[in-house]
Amino acid sequence: MKNTLTLTKKQAHFLKENRQDPITGDSFQMGDEIVFCAECKSAFLKESWEYMGNTHCNQEKTLEEVPFSKNLNLISDL
Ligand SMILES: [Zn+2]
Repeated sequence: MKNTLTLTKKQAHFLKENRQDPITGDSFQMGDEIVFCAECKSAFLKESWEYMGNTHCNQEKTLEEVPFSKNLNLISDL
């Protein structure tokens, strides 16, 4: 079961991070459908998530909402 999220203005904080899909290397854009791994909180385009077989970190859970930066383990300071 995956939760697909569409990036809108509400996720401006996420878009500002200029993060990229690890599979395609594309930056996320407004309107993209993305999936967050519930384990590592990494973001993937829906297509990339499906490409990985709907799993990451040896599990299939995805986040129901876009996480705020402060909840991310990733280093986003550039
Ligand atoms: Zn993961």
